[in-house]
Amino acid sequence: MGATLIDGKACAAAVESGLVSRIAALGAAPHLAVVIVGDDPASHVYVGAKERACERLGIRSTRIDLPVDTPFDDVVATVEALNADSDVNGILVQSPLPDGMDEIAITGLIDPIKDVDGFHAENLGRLVQGDTTGLLPCTPAGVMRMLEWAGVNLSGKNAVVLGRSRIVGMPQALLLAQKGADATVTIAHSRTEDIASVCRDADVIIAAVGRPEMVRPDWVKSGSTVIDVGVNRVEDESEKGYHLSGDVHADVVDVAGAMSPVPGGVGPMTIAMLMENTVRATEMQR
Ligand code: NAP
Repeated sequence: MGATLIDGKACAAAVESGLVSRIAALGAAPHLAVVIVGDDPASHVYVGAKERACERLGIRSTRIDLPVDTPFDDVVATVEALNADSDVNGILVQSPLPDGMDEIAITGLIDPIKDVDGFHAENLGRLVQGDTTGLLPCTPAGVMRMLEWAGVNLSGKNAVVLGRSRIVGMPQALLLAQKGADATVTIAHSRTEDIASVCRDADVIIAAVGRPEMVRPDWVKSGSTVIDVGVNRVEDESEKGYHLSGDVHADVVDVAGAMSPVPGGVGPMTIAMLMENTVRATEMQR
């Protein structure tokens, strides 16, 4: 028996359709500004997908492309101008920034009420305090929405989060452990000993490590739920020269009870949650 597919595209479509009436109720369309520094090809793909989602929903989007050698102070000035512009409701600075540019410092400059990525310390701090009504980081919030949509009961269950990054693993663990979700959470990382046996105890595994196919079938308890956040470019002999792989081996489908695919899992949910945050930010500002 193969795992049930947790279809992120379908779940994202449901999130987007729930936004239509909220956007209409706003009167004027929300406005998202996306700043992209440099020419990282994957970043351009992600920003293109975000722009298309805005178009689908009638959200205005403005893209500010800055060259890779833009001085730090100019990026700061760009963010500050967007903060001051009352016509802009959401600001996103696409990660990664060029080598050596302090991403946390830039994130900290974004007005928290326009911080649609949910990475500002004020928004993350609210999450630590157990308040999930603000702007939540899109990828972990998207995972929570997918789990709810798929009917996965988290209460009292063992959830293992692989990865402890600021943008995925840590906020993911907080969201799983919050009151109402009520999972018992283990965070595993590169120093975790015998990560396979940690995973074998899990009812739910969220893999966010950036290591292609790291989670093997013999790491997974039969019937558990596996969410694959990973998006890894793996070089191959194809015309494109690479394919995308998740952090979970495809054969896990034979062991898990439910599993999200890559692509078509967490990726579309991240974008849907960005749209939701943009609408939420606009509602809060009005
Ligand atoms: P990151 O900042 O590089 O963090 C990776 C985490 O994985 C770190 O905590 C690291 O541990 C841990 N790790 C690395 N190798 C490990 C190993 N062999 N065993 C155990 N833990 C290990 O990455 P990220 O930004 O969180 O992203 C993770 C993955 O999710 C990437 O593939 C990324 O492309 C993908 N992603 C997808 C979306 C989406 O929308 N689908 C959004 C964001 C990210 P240490 O802390 O000990 O170094």
